[in-house]
Amino acid sequence: MPKIQAIQAPMASPLLPSILESFEMVQSSYIGGRMPLFRPFLSLVLGLVTCLSVAQAQARPQSALDVMTFEDQFTCNDKFPHHSFCEAVDFKPWTETEKRIVGEYLANINDPRLSYLLEVIKTKGITKIHRVGYGANWFNNISKRRAEFYRSPDKALLWVNPVTNVIGFSDSFFTGTSFMDPHAKVDRKQINVFHELVHVFDVALGHISTSQEFYDSVGWHWDGKNHVISGVDYHQSQLDFKNILALVGNKQSALAYAQDRELGIHYGFPTVYSMTNTHESFAEIISYYIFDPTSKDYLSPKIQAYVKTILQE
Ligand SMILES: [Zn+2]
Repeated sequence: MPKIQAIQAPMASPLLPSILESFEMVQSSYIGGRMPLFRPFLSLVLGLVTCLSVAQAQARPQSALDVMTFEDQFTCNDKFPHHSFCEAVDFKPWTETEKRIVGEYLANINDPRLSYLLEVIKTKGITKIHRVGYGANWFNNISKRRAEFYRSPDKALLWVNPVTNVIGFSDSFFTGTSFMDPHAKVDRKQINVFHELVHVFDVALGHISTSQEFYDSVGWHWDGKNHVISGVDYHQSQLDFKNILALVGNKQSALAYAQDRELGIHYGFPTVYSMTNTHESFAEIISYYIFDPTSKDYLSPKIQAYVKTILQE
């Protein structure tokens, strides 16, 4: 895989990299820990570890169901993730029915082109999926030197929190109307579930959605005020997205979804949403590249070539 140079995303919270880094440091300090071991025992252990990792490498995940696990609990503490995260999100246990529903969506994420993506998520260990009441936003409490969280007013069906790496499925995922994507001919919730896993893949690779390679393939650049896409009327696409959100607010979700797709395709993208910021752009492009067989008709050859490289197809 070509080495991707990550550049700082101006819209990302300045808190994000520091927390992710400190989390990784804690993990590696465990790995680096030494214990006085008797030499033959050490070789036996090393031999065993080698055998196990060979076996693990051979058992490559076939679908997202082989990678993700349903988790009923999540622990917060005084530092990180702070108690305010658990209070905001309201974790609850999965029911058997919910697990079966989500399990089917995960099992359908089984395209052979996804073997590298699934392997990366598995290796990074961002694999626990939670049942939640709400989403959470965060801010940096400077005086207490910690990230604190508050309940988000958004009613997202499901989300990935980039600070805590928690993947949450809310009530609306189960109660929300299901409808077919007009082009991909697949349940849009199926695409939603995969979209979140693409965010996890992005996080696992150190936010490659902010890499110069991704920017270049799509045409993303900073115009001094906003991140914009070359050749796209920024104000018109913003207006289109505002109108789509108004339809959602008016409880016309199916119409909003159809317009998001039609207008997006008109611009050469899967959705207008994919033109709102680079993180969503990355998640949407890969989601529809995999699930929409017609995506090769509207994604530029440059974007398709980038996706092929990043998935190591
Ligand atoms: Zn997203």
